[in-house]
Amino acid sequence: MTDPAYLPKDPLGKIVRLGEECAEVQKEIAKIQRFGLFSYHPRDLDKVSNCARLIREIHDLEFAIERVKDLLASWPKCPGCNSPMDYVSSLLTGGIGGSLVCTSDDCPSASVVIEVPMVPKEES
Ligand SMILES: [Zn+2]
Repeated sequence: MTDPAYLPKDPLGKIVRLGEECAEVQKEIAKIQRFGLFSYHPRDLDKVSNCARLIREIHDLEFAIERVKDLLASWPKCPGCNSPMDYVSSLLTGGIGGSLVCTSDDCPSASVVIEVPMVPKEES
């Protein structure tokens, strides 16, 4: 877990951080594929298993995802009035999608909507 003092606070930094966390999860998955779920690095005195490392990285990834979702809820600003926009997600029958909506009463372009394309559900 990263010290919060070192977490990026700017929008691009938060997005880049999300990419880094994705890569760290991928790295742990590759180690599990190669060495097994319960093995650990031979020089790791604490003997932290690949499984435990994956769980830790998934937690970090979830945290990074939440930070970017929060970011997207207030950035970008409404092109009509420059107010923060609300992200409204909708779980639909065929998948998940959403939109960015301006809820400012003073907005000249009233409820500007930026559609977030629906991501189809994967067949299982
Ligand atoms: Zn607006």
